[in-house]
Amino acid sequence: MSIKIKLRYIPMIVVFGIIIQISNPYTIYALEAPEISEQEEFFRSVEAVTGVPWSIMAAVYKYETNIQKKDNGNPQFLSHKNLWGGLGNTEQGSMSPLVNAFYGGIGRDGSDDGLADSDNFYDIIYSLALWVSTNGKNEQEYIELFSELYNNEKAFKRIEQFTKIYQHFDTVDIKGNSFPIPLTYSYSYRSTWGAGRSYGGYRMHEGTDIFARAWTPVKSTSYGVVEIKGWNKYGGWRVGIRDLNNVYHYYAHLAGYAKELNEGDIVEAGQVIGYVGNSGYGPKGTTGRFPPHLHYGMYKDNGKNEWSFDPTPSLYRWERAEKQKKR
Ligand SMILES: [Zn+2]
Repeated sequence: MSIKIKLRYIPMIVVFGIIIQISNPYTIYALEAPEISEQEEFFRSVEAVTGVPWSIMAAVYKYETNIQKKDNGNPQFLSHKNLWGGLGNTEQGSMSPLVNAFYGGIGRDGSDDGLADSDNFYDIIYSLALWVSTNGKNEQEYIELFSELYNNEKAFKRIEQFTKIYQHFDTVDIKGNSFPIPLTYSYSYRSTWGAGRSYGGYRMHEGTDIFARAWTPVKSTSYGVVEIKGWNKYGGWRVGIRDLNNVYHYYAHLAGYAKELNEGDIVEAGQVIGYVGNSGYGPKGTTGRFPPHLHYGMYKDNGKNEWSFDPTPSLYRWERAEKQKKR
């Protein structure tokens, strides 16, 4: 009796097994992204073949990684556009470079195993680079083609910024942070993020205030690109720096800027960008409305929205790391 029931279930189990296999073809071949040094090597070898600068492919991959909040960024747009397999190709997960090419899809083999796997790092990078190199004429157009896929006006600027950072340092292996005030100067701070502010109507305090004497140097906390520099009625003389994790670092109430710091410049973590002051809360040039301090804000951007988060835990971490290094 019990054996009969079990036998009856076998065909169902087989059918379900086949359905799972068909509906989920990618999981079978899913591969981890390679190590960062290996990624860079591949970006460079793809540049040699397609002419698309390695820094652009690195920037697109990084942009995607930020959106997905994952360590690797196989572009999501590949799965929901007819890009990989081509229009009219009923099997969008097609692993055949020839079938993809027949339908006008971009999916090719970059890993040299004969398969065009839309979940494989090498296949994706090679296919995308080949595609933009045949549809665009220069760096500007390559970046435009990618940003169109994201259907997001910020994508172009971000990919352009990341490309510039990678070009400047000539590597994808860019990491490290710095506490914004040199530890040899006196300063004090506590968590003041989220407190109320009254100037200019009620606002939430989107940052941490670090009190220090006027003209104390202010260092960039991260590697990045200067996105904004100039006067703002709340922040006074301020600088905004975008890093590769798509975090915007905001330094406000400065007394002055480091010499020759301009919008579009690439900065290193620990590089002096300005000096503590008490500018702001009024028309251009207003000072003295409050004691000198650095207002430091951090904003995260997921490609669609931007929001402030508490920088205090990061500040504690960077401060502690620098103190340990000095010992
Ligand atoms: Zn503040």
